[in-house]
Amino acid sequence: MENLTLEKIVNMCNQRGIIFAGSEIYGGLGNTWDYGPIGHEIKSNIKREWWKRFVYNSPNTFGVDAAILMNPRVWEASGHVAGFSDPKIDCKDCKTRHRADNLIEAHATKTGKPVNTDSMSDDELNKYLTDNKIKCPKCGNSNFTDIRQFNLMFETSRGVTEGGQSKIYLRPETAQGEFVNFINIQRTMRAKVPFGIAQIGKAFRNEVTPGNFIFRTIEFEQMEHQLFCKEGQDEAFYEEYKTKAWDFLLSLGFKAENLKFKPHDKLSHYAKAACDINYKFPMGWSELNGIHNRTNYDLSRHQEYSGKGMLYLDPVSGEKYIPWVVEYSIGADRLMLAVLCEAYNEEKLEDGDTRTVLKLHPKLAAYKAAVFPLQKNLGEKAMEVFNTLNKHFYCAYDEAGSIGKRYRRQDEIGTPYCITVDFTTLENGIVTLRDRDTMQQQSMTVDEVVAFIKGKLE
Ligand code: ATP
Repeated sequence: MENLTLEKIVNMCNQRGIIFAGSEIYGGLGNTWDYGPIGHEIKSNIKREWWKRFVYNSPNTFGVDAAILMNPRVWEASGHVAGFSDPKIDCKDCKTRHRADNLIEAHATKTGKPVNTDSMSDDELNKYLTDNKIKCPKCGNSNFTDIRQFNLMFETSRGVTEGGQSKIYLRPETAQGEFVNFINIQRTMRAKVPFGIAQIGKAFRNEVTPGNFIFRTIEFEQMEHQLFCKEGQDEAFYEEYKTKAWDFLLSLGFKAENLKFKPHDKLSHYAKAACDINYKFPMGWSELNGIHNRTNYDLSRHQEYSGKGMLYLDPVSGEKYIPWVVEYSIGADRLMLAVLCEAYNEEKLEDGDTRTVLKLHPKLAAYKAAVFPLQKNLGEKAMEVFNTLNKHFYCAYDEAGSIGKRYRRQDEIGTPYCITVDFTTLENGIVTLRDRDTMQQQSMTVDEVVAFIKGKLE
């Protein structure tokens, strides 16, 4: 919808049982969010669709569910201990915290003189801030602390006695759980390169500037797929995964005009190629997912740091090599936000009213149908219809208020079909099915409803 604001999405989520502020009754905990009954269903459906496409329908792909807490050496090998940090500054006057690189990039975009903050030292970033008299976005003053590199990994410690404690981290990405299990999976599943390992799980980042609702949070879920291949196959797989990532979004109902590829301006030292797919969020075009050609960096580093061989033996050619990796990574929560923004609509009706409707793809909707008795005394028959339908897909039941009000309630949470049981149902078993998007109604038997809705879910 044109002119959609994030505020509208946040309010709708709060009002409709989709997403609530975390620990709300205690005043919340900044940038944590709890999914309510409707939100939990939608997010589970998003994850299920991803898993179907990238595991069940991807030949030679295996799923894992690795531990969140990993041996700290993993994060030394991956480079996170040394380099997973952002340049943090604080405004001395209003005490707000900022990322120096973000302030500089915003200034550079405004003045039309691009800078590459990734290649600047802390001293250079400091000098840029002072020379250009960059202002705090909150209070407008230019009175910042010096830059401090702030590691984004959450630290915790294990052990019962203080002396026995040792520092460990909450994983900042799920990918390492796939890399450290490369040999286990290759061996136990008799996997032949090229093959994939996929995972959906929680990740944690102590972001300097979290925000924009569930776009950037400190705790989130990632859906990641690592494709292990031979050097030389990497470029074709990189292109293939760009297409697969794009097609997946279209299959969820995204319009192509709201998506675009963005190649990375600067590659990590180990990467051969990298790009994001950006989505037109209400706050502007922003990253939705990434596709990266990571060379054989990850497995080589784990071989070096663990001392365990990561070589793959090609059973046909007898060749031994460390496989290359093409990674596709997308945040489940960030995708959830994009799905909600894409589906949100306000429509003017003929009677002058406005209806809010969430035009979710039926496979993502929390309830696939809602069953209503026209009047309360039809409750028994309606409950019978509900029980039949609910065996096939998750349904809602509502007998409160006028039929019009009940339609609106379901429109707002994206239920694609409403089924009304009236007096004729008692005689001939025929119900009325109303379509969320067209608001058209048609009569059919309950068996026909099951077949009709199942057809829409495929
Ligand atoms: P960004 O540039 O937005 O910080 P990133 O490039 O650091 O993201 P990756 O490390 O490539 O992101 O993570 C892969 C995906 O995980 C992202 O494309 C995004 O969908 C999701 N993601 C990353 N950080 C967060 C976060 N703090 N909150 C929610 N989702 C996130």
